Amino acid sequence: MAQEEQFSSLGQLGEFGLIDHLTRDFPLNQASTIKGIGDDAAILEFLSGRTVVSTDMLVEGVHFDLSYMPPQHLGYKAVAVNLSDIYAMNAKPSQITVSLAVSNRFGIEYLDKIYEGIRHACEVHEVDLVGGDTTSSYSGLILSITAIGEVDENRITERGGAKENDLLVISGDLGGAYMGLQVLEREKSVFQANPDAQPDLSEYSYAVQRQLKPEARKDIPDLLEKLGVLPSSMIDVSDGLSSEVLHLSKASGMGFQIYEDKIPVDPTISKVCEEFKLSSTTVALNGGEDYELLFTIPLADHDKIKGNPHLTVIGHVTEAGAKPMLIARDGAAVPLQAQGWNALKESE
Ligand code: ADP
Ligand code: MG
Repeated sequence: MAQEEQFSSLGQLGEFGLIDHLTRDFPLNQASTIKGIGDDAAILEFLSGRTVVSTDMLVEGVHFDLSYMPPQHLGYKAVAVNLSDIYAMNAKPSQITVSLAVSNRFGIEYLDKIYEGIRHACEVHEVDLVGGDTTSSYSGLILSITAIGEVDENRITERGGAKENDLLVISGDLGGAYMGLQVLEREKSVFQANPDAQPDLSEYSYAVQRQLKPEARKDIPDLLEKLGVLPSSMIDVSDGLSSEVLHLSKASGMGFQIYEDKIPVDPTISKVCEEFKLSSTTVALNGGEDYELLFTIPLADHDKIKGNPHLTVIGHVTEAGAKPMLIARDGAAVPLQAQGWNALKESE
């Protein structure tokens, strides 16, 4: 772990002093926040629509490695991955709570940096920090975030709404976050073998950025509304395209076809895949952590999204009960499987 210039032990402030210190600069901006931090519970008021709630937990050594994850990025990412779930409901996030388990291996300065990232994410995504919990841990760092959001009752998008012949659409591009992780893991082992080695990551900046600073797609629900498109179903891509298509298929009971040659992969990411001798299709299907939005829209809405630089049609919904299939570049139909990261590791 990078050495801190200053180390002030957590014990100096005591539990309540620490909470006050960490949460001091969080203004409340949302109309739905009546009361934030400081009582036994926050008080919220939603005047109409539906309220959506989602929680994610990040565990050191399982979900992140502090040797290459700067604390500001960790704070930002922890919030972003939670908000991604709110956007995937076509909702607008409004509040978060942050729970933290830390050992005395961390100093106040380190936690300040995590909260700097959390604050930045709150500003970018316009959410209020309204509570949390702080406790000690004997080993690693654990960050658990709950996000709350709101959405018009008739604009909420669940996983199960896909209809036959709907188009399957993805925002942005895929595979970057997984390749960023590969680059960082490689640099870590180089560094462990030779601590004087200075990594030059400039060639890999997009991949590394996708891993360390993923951005939840705040813009997509707004864009769809502006285009006059209401998705019939939606999910965010946290575990790889394959797994998410299978979730949509299971929830809707419909079959899907996706086309290998339509899957958007950034050219710089394809280059990194080549270097690591990985197929960019395999990485996009199984890599995960891209936090793009995957959704279905009625075929009649095709013209509204056609040519939009943020959106790519990658396939369509087939008949009820059919299996989700990948149509490979050579035309072969291959059943989609949820392999996830383990399968990728085995093929290396
Ligand atoms: P309680 O004992 O009732 O759980 P706490 O002392 O844990 O209360 O928390 C006091 C206040 O500070 C509450 O409003 C709580 O939501 C908030 N809080 C505690 N820890 C955090 C944290 N890590 N981040 C943000 N808010 C926190
Ligand atoms: Mg508490």
